[in-house]
Amino acid sequence: MHIIVLPGDGIGPEITDAALAVLDAAANRHGLNLNLTHDVAGHESLRRYGTTLRPGLLEIVKQADGLLMGPMSTYDYTDESKGGINPSAYFRKRLDLFANIRPARTYPGVPHPAMRDFDLVVVRENTEGFYADRNMEKGGAEMLVTPDVCISLRRITRPCCARIAKAAFRLATARRGRVTAVHKANVLALGDGMFLEECRKAAERFPGVVLEEVIVDAMAALLIRDPSRFDVIVTTNMFGDILSDMTAELSGSIGLGGSVNAGMEHAMAQAAHGSAPDIAGQDRANPLSLILSVAQLLDWHGGRRGGDAYMRAARSIEAAVAEAVSAGDITADLGGRLGTRAAGEAVAARLR
Ligand code: ATP
Ligand code: MG
Repeated sequence: MHIIVLPGDGIGPEITDAALAVLDAAANRHGLNLNLTHDVAGHESLRRYGTTLRPGLLEIVKQADGLLMGPMSTYDYTDESKGGINPSAYFRKRLDLFANIRPARTYPGVPHPAMRDFDLVVVRENTEGFYADRNMEKGGAEMLVTPDVCISLRRITRPCCARIAKAAFRLATARRGRVTAVHKANVLALGDGMFLEECRKAAERFPGVVLEEVIVDAMAALLIRDPSRFDVIVTTNMFGDILSDMTAELSGSIGLGGSVNAGMEHAMAQAAHGSAPDIAGQDRANPLSLILSVAQLLDWHGGRRGGDAYMRAARSIEAAVAEAVSAGDITADLGGRLGTRAAGEAVAARLR
């Protein structure tokens, strides 16, 4: 498996190092044939090449099987004329990584703000909604009509609804067989109406999976009250963005939030959180988000290629994380005393 590694900004390089140590240990244990190419995007790329994402990188990434990307300080990249392209949005769109899979679960012994223990997955549509734009690297589709009036456009298409619904139902068959479609069809009747129609169609094709529909505002309350009742949550781009930060934090820390951005041909492992500039360079960041993301990337690759060893490696990384967490080998955000490097090493050591 050929993986391109882009460490990113802020805490990115630190958590990427920790994730690579774990990946190396898992590869040795399961005999994976890995080929890593180290490259840059974000501020480091801006320093070297005058742009946060140099043009040739897309072709390099397209030749590879996957991408491991640290968080990017996308807030800093608002001026495209100065080389500021949002690498995350760029790869999601150009590689058509339509499904952003964001698991969240609690761990025994780790304090969390949820009322109950839970284990769920947010499946976030990743290519359209409010983030759809011709000028895609910059993010949203917005226009100033007058200096004091802005219009933001939200694009929803039937094929994108259908494929995200299918991804969610397929995932639910391997879990507890329950999909919750989160929407705001009472206000966004056409767009979210279409999204719900496609979820209902998918439900007919997966008779073993139960579909429930919940309005997004009620969902926020229900997630606090009892996240344990949810299995797979499928939703449009922005709702998924917001709800998945909430579910990561509910599980104990945003630093536990892993994700894979999956398409048909490509996938990108990426922490669900941002670059955390407030704690960058201090060996304080929780690396488990990116470590769990790497496990998801291996799982995606194995599922696609019939590579059992990759799926077994993914399961052992998850098990090693659970062991390390339950043993209290964790960073300060989870109430532990380890630094970033030591927390990564605690997982890697369990794989050796
Ligand atoms: P960005 O603009 O890149 O999103 P941000 O300032 O919004 O950066 P986030 O990365 O979104 O910061 O993080 C929000 C909060 O969560 C910050 O206080 C940050 O320190 C904390 N945080 C984020 N990731 C981690 C992590 N892996 N470990 C510990 N704390 C984290
Ligand atoms: Mg942020």
